[in-house]
Amino acid sequence: MNLRIGNGYDIHRLGRDRRLILGGVEIPHELGLVGHSDADVIVHAIMDAMLGALSLGDIGLYFPPSDPQWKNADSLVLLAKVNALILEKGWAIGNLDSTVVAERPKLKPHISAMREKLASVLEIEGDRIGIKATTNEKLGPVGREEGIAAYAVALLVSS
Ligand code: MG
Repeated sequence: MNLRIGNGYDIHRLGRDRRLILGGVEIPHELGLVGHSDADVIVHAIMDAMLGALSLGDIGLYFPPSDPQWKNADSLVLLAKVNALILEKGWAIGNLDSTVVAERPKLKPHISAMREKLASVLEIEGDRIGIKATTNEKLGPVGREEGIAAYAVALLVSS
């Protein structure tokens, strides 16, 4: 069995009049993430980890913000495209692990819905997807609720 590992990171600003979508799940909150797409930092970090594992560049290369077709894009659609790309190259997800850093709102009640959503898009078992949430202990821009960040690691396998 061949193995490849990749990591990903993303951060988006919080702003008014935006929906908060994390891990493909809409979360009730007075602020949402600002971006060209739906700004789902968890899914963006996971896609970069998957691409990085195969040295395929980053999501900016495949879905450039300058391209109007990705405006307000559902990041789950982009995730399905990245998954199709790695499958086409003969690889599959061994497991994914992600940490989302947000001061508010409490994300714990939404984690299982995120894992289920990502598992269905990626067509893998939910127990191959880890998502953890933490605060930044009120430190820095994330701690001041100016944004939400996410980190991810992807292990890919090929037979
Ligand atoms: Mg992003």
